[in-house]
Amino acid sequence: PAKGEVILEAKEVTRRFGGLVANNNMSLSVRAGEILALIGPNGAGKSTMFNQISGVDTPTSGEVLFLGRAVAGRDSREIARMGMSRTFQHVKLLPTMTVLENVAIGAHLRGDKGVLSSAWRLDRNEEARLLNEAARQIERVGLAEHMFDAAGSLALGQQRILEIARALAADPCLLLLDEPAAGLRFKEKQALAELLKKLRGEGIGILLVEHDMDFVMGLVDRVVVMEFGQKIAEGLPEDVQRNPAVLEAYLGG
Ligand code: ADP
Ligand code: MG
Repeated sequence: PAKGEVILEAKEVTRRFGGLVANNNMSLSVRAGEILALIGPNGAGKSTMFNQISGVDTPTSGEVLFLGRAVAGRDSREIARMGMSRTFQHVKLLPTMTVLENVAIGAHLRGDKGVLSSAWRLDRNEEARLLNEAARQIERVGLAEHMFDAAGSLALGQQRILEIARALAADPCLLLLDEPAAGLRFKEKQALAELLKKLRGEGIGILLVEHDMDFVMGLVDRVVVMEFGQKIAEGLPEDVQRNPAVLEAYLGG
């Protein structure tokens, strides 16, 4: 997709869990070459929204369109092949395997756990292709000097960047990041922000769920703020930051 083109569109998404409305009539869109942050206090419904968008869960009503096609009902592998790639808050890297191997497996998996077993039955050409592609992504994110280090030996910030390299190996046009800055030191956040800006410049659309307001403010193009399952504000970071409803949601709760 060309820069500026809408690649993701959530339309009036509602997700109920019994009597609880975790997402209430949520709409948002992401364009190619844009970073959108979804923020809000704990329990606001961000992860639930993320799950509707990535097809992990299905809305009670409303729909999510990726490149004009409905996400609901497709498995994770198919969605990854369409060009949507996500990192998980709790899916771990394989710590004893090298940086290169971790990314090569990402290239092979394309988001589907089920094919892990077939990773050990690749022919040599396919293996070479995956390793080449993995090396290219590792260079792209600036981890080339760690190519053959064990993933578990990297600093947390580098591991986070490695997870992004693994997501990039599936060649996405939309990247979904769940709290990428969580637990990182200031310098690591800066390095992560620089990488995301670079990917944006290459035309990738990025949606990030983030708790860290400071990280979001210097980086993203637009912000959607959620509270109690609903959108309470949307706009430029500097405008949203001054919005009384947003201040109330963050400070008053
Ligand atoms: P956030 O990511 O913004 O912290 P979540 O989307 O995780 O918020 O949760 C929003 C609300 O939905 C919370 O009240 C949470 O307990 C509830 N919730 C999330 N997932 C489920 C589920 N699978 N079953 C029942 N309730 C859920
Ligand atoms: Mg969450």
